[in-house]
Amino acid sequence: MSKKALVCGAGGFIGGHLVNRLKSEGYWVRGVDLKENEYGNMNADEFVTGDLCDPRVAKKVAAGINDVYQLAADMGGAGYIFTGENDASVMYNSAMCNLNVLDACYHAGVKKIFYSSSACMYPEYNQLDPDNPKCSEDSAYPAAPDSEYGWEKLFSERLYLAYHRNHGTEVHIARFHNIFGPQGTWQGGREKAPAAICRKVAEAPENGEIEIWGDGKQTRSFLFIDECVEGIRRLVESDFSGPVNIGSEEMITINDFAKMVIDLSGKNLTIKNILGPTGVRGRNSDNKLIYEKLGWKPVMPLREGMLKTYAWIREMSNATRLVSY
Ligand code: NAD
Repeated sequence: MSKKALVCGAGGFIGGHLVNRLKSEGYWVRGVDLKENEYGNMNADEFVTGDLCDPRVAKKVAAGINDVYQLAADMGGAGYIFTGENDASVMYNSAMCNLNVLDACYHAGVKKIFYSSSACMYPEYNQLDPDNPKCSEDSAYPAAPDSEYGWEKLFSERLYLAYHRNHGTEVHIARFHNIFGPQGTWQGGREKAPAAICRKVAEAPENGEIEIWGDGKQTRSFLFIDECVEGIRRLVESDFSGPVNIGSEEMITINDFAKMVIDLSGKNLTIKNILGPTGVRGRNSDNKLIYEKLGWKPVMPLREGMLKTYAWIREMSNATRLVSY
């Protein structure tokens, strides 16, 4: 009989891709989310539309499951999590999902549970120099994330580790660094930088300009979705609990990143840097620990993943414009 997996947040970007991966490995998969995936990435054997802030929903979906992947979170890009306007929702919704799912898993006797934390939990003081950010796993304390989103992630990491210590629950925790790819949010206010920049470039007229938040000298690394899913599966099949970074070490300034997308588009566009929420000055994954524990780390060049992502967003943007004419 095939093993049964539950993906919480299956209507979202990473959850939708993870469902596909688990299906391809022969799992029977149940998905749960507040909403269906808007890009049709809906391949779970069973999909429950429900709110994990309600403990009864968490109890219902955890029943009869072997492995749980908890990706449900109140989440978005800088325009959503760094403005301060959504802090109460972000903290309440995400913490409630984690409290309810984890406790339901414990009582249902779920074998193992994966939790998706974020690089946003790393202290701001180590990410002030854009050329030399520090994000090794052991640099998390003294804690000083620059957003409430990051504080909630840190709280929930500790919650999972507490269940592991006190109840013996097998947990695996990853700290994702900017995951991007097709079938992710690309408009509407919750999109993250790679999708937002692809959309701006796709929609700009020839010889036009695109706006980039901040001075563009802030640095980040970005990881393509397939490598993220590969990392999740390898971590869950290992005997390592983490927390561990799942990210790319190919750090780039945001202006250079925008130039890469412009180049991929074949358009002639200029960049205009404007005021906007940006988060920390510098961030890059540190992959020493993942390589040591799993003998694996992401290797795909950023440009390769962006080629696929830009093509998908250009197609989505063209289709949306055709519909609105
Ligand atoms: P996403 O927003 O596409 O997916 C999250 C899903 O959770 C959404 O579909 C949302 O509807 C669902 N959800 C929210 N509240 C819920 C609730 N109360 N009940 C049921 N479902 C609920 O985001 P994503 O990019 O797929 O991220 C998945 C996870 O990875 C999140 O926990 C996120 O914080 C984490 N993460 C993502 C990134 C990234 O770059 N995408 C980086 C770091 C961490």
